[in-house]
Amino acid sequence: MIAQNLQNVRTTLPQQVTLVAVSKTKPIEDILEAYHAQQRVFGENKAQEMKEKYEALPKDIEWHFIGHLQSNKIKYIIPFVALIHSVDCLDLLEEINVKAQKINRVVPVLLQVHIAQEEHKFGFKLNEIFEIIPSLQKYQNIQIKGLMGMGTFTNDQIQLGNEFNSLQVLFNKIKMSYNEILPIFDILSMGMSNDYALAIQNGSNMVRIGSTIFGERNYNK
Ligand SMILES: *Cc1c(COP(=O)(O)O)cnc(C)c1O
Repeated sequence: MIAQNLQNVRTTLPQQVTLVAVSKTKPIEDILEAYHAQQRVFGENKAQEMKEKYEALPKDIEWHFIGHLQSNKIKYIIPFVALIHSVDCLDLLEEINVKAQKINRVVPVLLQVHIAQEEHKFGFKLNEIFEIIPSLQKYQNIQIKGLMGMGTFTNDQIQLGNEFNSLQVLFNKIKMSYNEILPIFDILSMGMSNDYALAIQNGSNMVRIGSTIFGERNYNK
């Protein structure tokens, strides 16, 4: 099932789009099934859960952290995380830098930008990003590789398209204007099971897909 689902998703992705298989809440066996179908990039949103899975699974897996990260949980993932998609405030950036410095790593991250209309989604505001860019230079142990955003939970394609477009515009502006401060800025992470086609139309080159690959999540287990 999982292998087939993966195959189906892959056929819909243009070549430049990286697929992050979102395996949060799913057991090791499910991840292994995807692994045996050549999937190497997985996304998790809980630090301890990700650490346990990292320890139990093959070491050529790239682990992407996609959830809200609390400062006191950074330590669980900092030695091995391949990309943190969800840096949503400067304090977190600061903390990641301190922890990365201690183990002499440069940790790749994305800045999460708030594009949805819902109040509760985390992230920098669109206009806030330009204000913080100059201060990003001081984080020697962090490599800022791009932006991440989540659309509003809605079927309104016009609204979603507008949200994704606003992030694409921001991404392109930063890429063009801040090459010195952000030399490796090339990832635009947007799109989930229900909206990734639209996200790709709006320039996404990294999609985070869970339920379409692994089936619906059960949080009551
Ligand atoms: C859970 C999650 C996803 C995947 O959601 P699906 O709808 O299952 O594809 C993507 N991004 C983030 C940040 C998530 O928390």
